[in-house]
Amino acid sequence: MENEIRSLLETASRLISGAQDDIKALEQVRVRYLGRKGEFAALFKGLVALPDDERRRVGKVLNEAKVELEALLNGAMDLSREKLRSRTQFFDVTIPGRRPLTGHLHPITQTAVEIGRIFSGLGFETVEGPEIELDYYNFEALNIPRDHPARDMQDTFYISEDVVLRTHTSPIQVRVMEKRRPPIRIIAPGRTYRCDSDVTHTPMFHQVEGLMVGENISFGDLKGILTVFVHQMFGPHVGLRFRPSFFPFTEPSAEVDIQCVMCRGAGCRVCSQTGWLEILGSGMVDPEVFKMVGYDPETVTGFAFGMGIERIAMLKYGIDDLRLFFENDLRFLRQF
Ligand SMILES: [Zn+2]
Repeated sequence: MENEIRSLLETASRLISGAQDDIKALEQVRVRYLGRKGEFAALFKGLVALPDDERRRVGKVLNEAKVELEALLNGAMDLSREKLRSRTQFFDVTIPGRRPLTGHLHPITQTAVEIGRIFSGLGFETVEGPEIELDYYNFEALNIPRDHPARDMQDTFYISEDVVLRTHTSPIQVRVMEKRRPPIRIIAPGRTYRCDSDVTHTPMFHQVEGLMVGENISFGDLKGILTVFVHQMFGPHVGLRFRPSFFPFTEPSAEVDIQCVMCRGAGCRVCSQTGWLEILGSGMVDPEVFKMVGYDPETVTGFAFGMGIERIAMLKYGIDDLRLFFENDLRFLRQF
């Protein structure tokens, strides 16, 4: 009987290694040898016919053989299941990788950079000035004395009687002219502040100031430079017009309109059916401003301009609510 057990175990082992990871075949081996009506069950039944001492000895051998076969079978099952899993979860090298999220410049910054790039190409240098400004630079040196009605045009945050949060970037042109002699060709971007908040106004916003001073600088130069700027910023086919206006620090003054970027001049809700959108203020530097910084208005002339960066960004990207720039909702920012 012991020989029978040994040959049974050998046959079963051969069948297991011959199953080649076929789970069905392994299951058949289990049923055939270890099932309730299997070969081992039959041998256990046969033990009854043996004498006591031999039954004990052969029973032990039979038990050991059964345990060995079970271990062999379980090992083969585990291995073939593992192989099956690795076959179905293969590694596809052609699937595009997952890019980690990276930040980028805020649309206002992008617009400021773009404006700077255009003017840099026209020979303008970028300069900066303080956001907390003396009343003198913010108003007086720009031909806006204390009792001047133009002060009502700007709702100012006063820190003290003589110190304000700058209401525009124009004080930078005064600071630059005080320190340098012409020719001057600068732009000055930065934050500005006014006590104002609604759909089209925020207490803090961004401006870019421009200044060009030298001999024989004319209104024609102003028109030429700003025309190049508009065409580079909004496209070469966008029309523009200069409309007479008033600013205390320029004379004559002009506001610049571009053809509506939404309707291309046909008239729509955004442009109030006019076909035009105002984008900046400009003019020839007032002789009074030159006198304040010690320049001789008889020998030098120049022009200045100022624009809101949010306004330019809104028109360039077709955004209709200023507040989107300040809420910093990532779903909005990721579109740029
Ligand atoms: Zn329009």
